[in-house]
Amino acid sequence: MEGVEGDGDLDLLADLIGHFGQVRVEEPQPEREPVLSSFDAEGFVKYLLDNNCKKVVVMAGAGISTSAGIPDFRSPGTGLYDNLQKYELEEPEDVFSIDFFRENPNPFYDLAKELYPGHFKPTPSHHFVRLLQDKGILLRHYTQNIDTLERMAGVADDKVIEAHGSFATAHCTDCQEEADPAWVKGRVFAGDIPHCQRCGGVVKPDIVFFGESLPERFTRGFRKDLADADALIVMGTSLKVHPFASLISYARKDVPRILINRDRVGEDGFAFYGSAFDFDAEYRDVFMGGTCDDGVRVLARLLGWEEDLDRLVADGNTAFETERQRHGGTDGDNTTEQQNGREGDDDDDDDDGDGEDEGDEGARSTEENDKGDENGGDGDGDSAAPAADDNGAVTEKQES
Ligand SMILES: [Zn+2]
Repeated sequence: MEGVEGDGDLDLLADLIGHFGQVRVEEPQPEREPVLSSFDAEGFVKYLLDNNCKKVVVMAGAGISTSAGIPDFRSPGTGLYDNLQKYELEEPEDVFSIDFFRENPNPFYDLAKELYPGHFKPTPSHHFVRLLQDKGILLRHYTQNIDTLERMAGVADDKVIEAHGSFATAHCTDCQEEADPAWVKGRVFAGDIPHCQRCGGVVKPDIVFFGESLPERFTRGFRKDLADADALIVMGTSLKVHPFASLISYARKDVPRILINRDRVGEDGFAFYGSAFDFDAEYRDVFMGGTCDDGVRVLARLLGWEEDLDRLVADGNTAFETERQRHGGTDGDNTTEQQNGREGDDDDDDDDGDGEDEGDEGARSTEENDKGDENGGDGDGDSAAPAADDNGAVTEKQES
């Protein structure tokens, strides 16, 4: 500690203070003017308006999709894994291991039927991100989710970065040939394994499995985006899966950050290179407890956008229902013109009548990898599951 060394009285004082844990003796904070006028949604929105912010970065996790009824597919016991028992997996999570997938893609594709986009409709939180885009102030939306609901809500492809990939694109696991995602989906819902039309290898949607790298768009883009950001909105994530979680550290030191989540998270300085959330400092961080949908509604109201949000939600619901009726309630369009490589093991019972089970958030289990994290239905923010090290190589989920 500068200027204190050798001064016995101050040393003692520092020791005592440190002992009581009231002050961070090691890193005295210089006096600084608070960035925000108040440390709540009002203060955050006032900052956006007063500073004419146009480069808002959003970071989202499973919590923004909770109210859509997206199953927490990482948690065995939610029912999602029940029909995988016949595969006798050693670890249910093997479904998302790339090595296992190469050996046996059937369990994944069984599960994928339940996870495929089309069953679910965007939540108000997704529409709020769309609204940020429409108002011209969204720099980028980073999501851990693979459900593509932000795209369904109309967020442009170049505005969305799916850190753990998504079903929106697909590639051959052997020759890397790109496959038409609609065709892949058709095969899956027909109970088939999609095989590469060029080499016959197994085709996989580009969701990131354990053992795979994170998408290049993510690893290459986030530093610049966060450095350019003039405000950061973090929603529905436990900030436990790195490197996604560490994005908050890359925002400039005076950029306001709001966390909308059931629980306070991201305060562990060690995990965030000194740029953890510090809600108590009353400097630039705001914690807004509650659901994402409630939180964005408050922000929309304060921004004067409440009617816009209502309209987007209503239009989105109409479009979703129209689309569903157009497909007769199933996702299995363009089905059976190609029957190659059937593994014989598929159950064809995808009549899909269960595509509607929304709002089951109470049943979500969050026990795995979140010790003591009472996120409840808010999810632990990492719906795609794989964690990665800083080189972008996906390892296993890791505690931070
Ligand atoms: Zn191929």
